[in-house]
Amino acid sequence: MTQQNNPCQHMQLATSPIGDVKYCADCGIVHLAVQNLSLRLETESFRALTYMLAQAQLNMEDHEHYSRHQYQAVKNVKPFIKKTH
Ligand SMILES: [Zn+2]
Repeated sequence: MTQQNNPCQHMQLATSPIGDVKYCADCGIVHLAVQNLSLRLETESFRALTYMLAQAQLNMEDHEHYSRHQYQAVKNVKPFIKKTH
């Protein structure tokens, strides 16, 4: 049995219900796993991606803030609270 020399130690940076982010200090690579998607990014690229996602989220929330969609979402919560007799 050949022993594979794998010095990589992945450090867990964050986890969430949809995936996790690990960092490999040996390679300088960020491993981003989202559901079935797996990305290996250099730290520079990861920072750029993070910044882009943060911008996207801010723009999305700004757009949705007073939208009708959100109003409906709030309205739709109430029927589920209704008691069944
Ligand atoms: Zn590595």
